[in-house]
Amino acid sequence: MEEERYERLLHNNRKLLCRECGGKLKYIHSGEYVCLSCGATELDDFGIIRKYLEENGPSSREEIIRVTGIPGDRVNAYLKQERLVAVNSSSELKAKTRNMGREQ
Ligand SMILES: [Zn+2]
Repeated sequence: MEEERYERLLHNNRKLLCRECGGKLKYIHSGEYVCLSCGATELDDFGIIRKYLEENGPSSREEIIRVTGIPGDRVNAYLKQERLVAVNSSSELKAKTRNMGREQ
């Protein structure tokens, strides 16, 4: 049942249409999408978190939630899926990228 809830959270966050032109979006990797019509790129919540962590280094769950405004439930889902992982068993998190493990 928990799994279903997480799946739904993620599904709801899927981007389908381009904000710029309404064209179809294709998922590239790590929460990033490209528009098949105009080439614009978009990020879903995971992409936003990943970008933040890339630019600012590993950060705590609380900081991620505060800075990005993404719900804690969704951050928990990414943790459960191991798309976000703790750095050296500290409370700081980093994002897994395509080369580091499972990618949807
Ligand atoms: Zn577009």
